[in-house]
Amino acid sequence: MSAPNNSYDPVEVTPLHPDEVARMRDEALRAVAEAASLEQLKEVRLAHAGDRSPLALANREIGALPPAARADAGKRVGGARREISEAIKARQAELEAERDARVLVEEAVDVTLPWDRSQRGARHPLTTIAERMTDIFVGMGFEVAEGPEIEAEWFNFDALNFLPDHPARTMQDTFFVEAPSGGPSNMVLRTHTSPVQVRALLDREPPVYVVAPGKTFRTDELDATHTPVFHQLEGLVVDEGITMAHLRGAIDAFVSGMFGAGLKTRFRPSYFPFTEPSAEVDMQCFVCRGASVGNPDRPCRTCGSEGWIEVAGCGIVNPRVLTAAGVDTERYSGWAFGLGVERTLMFAHGVSDMHDMVEGDVRFTSAFGMEI
Ligand SMILES: [Zn+2]
Repeated sequence: MSAPNNSYDPVEVTPLHPDEVARMRDEALRAVAEAASLEQLKEVRLAHAGDRSPLALANREIGALPPAARADAGKRVGGARREISEAIKARQAELEAERDARVLVEEAVDVTLPWDRSQRGARHPLTTIAERMTDIFVGMGFEVAEGPEIEAEWFNFDALNFLPDHPARTMQDTFFVEAPSGGPSNMVLRTHTSPVQVRALLDREPPVYVVAPGKTFRTDELDATHTPVFHQLEGLVVDEGITMAHLRGAIDAFVSGMFGAGLKTRFRPSYFPFTEPSAEVDMQCFVCRGASVGNPDRPCRTCGSEGWIEVAGCGIVNPRVLTAAGVDTERYSGWAFGLGVERTLMFAHGVSDMHDMVEGDVRFTSAFGMEI
């Protein structure tokens, strides 16, 4: 039986041998230095500084040493572990700095790159202004009516009291539509929205309160103030006891709804075959309110320094029109008006050239933004 091993030499416990501790330390330091990413460094930490790392396992052997040898071995192992831990910390800081620098580069936005996204369009201002005009009447209880753009001559002219030899038929230069065989078809591209008056009366029993926005056609050449395709807003009221005063009230409500409160309107006598009496409506200029008249120092582009802007044609519906549509003229009377949509857009927004409205340049439309 041998004596107690009091002269136990830590050199004999292989993991605690100074060379072995140095080898484990060097291996760990090399792995730390070679870690190329934070993920790899995490694995290195587990392998060389974790609870199951060689030095951690060696540390457990210290307890088996005689007391005299423990301090020396503990110092050796502890020093190596501290060295590794500091190396990991330093490498961690380096890798984090590298990652941050890389993120800055990768996520940088090059504001000098050419802008190649397609431009966003906007609804055409003729559409939006026609809707605004219509909405004012809808707000007063009017209903929206529609009719075809290729219209029977009867609706476009005859029913509206344009007799076959009526000068107005040539006054309004009309696109006549050929029949497929080549001859006349008795169809036209409607020259105004007024045929919708007759259609609305044939479709409904009075009382009738309708507005009809729509496209109309005349054989004008396109220039700064004319276009062969344009838009009107037609209004029609047929009820018992309707007078010119109701017409005036509705026009005034439209003008204040569209251009602001407090603008005066005036009626000038005019002529249309389908109304009697007929009038042209002017409203006070909403820009200068008349201040430009006779005042050369304050000219107004909107009204041409006249103080008034022509907004509509109107009148009391000719009883012949009501009769053509089968309405009892002993009981009912009515009024009608026609507003020009292009004209309204021109003076409301200072558009001076019709070309801008029809050429489809998105830069013109975009200037009106995304109004809906
Ligand atoms: Zn003015």
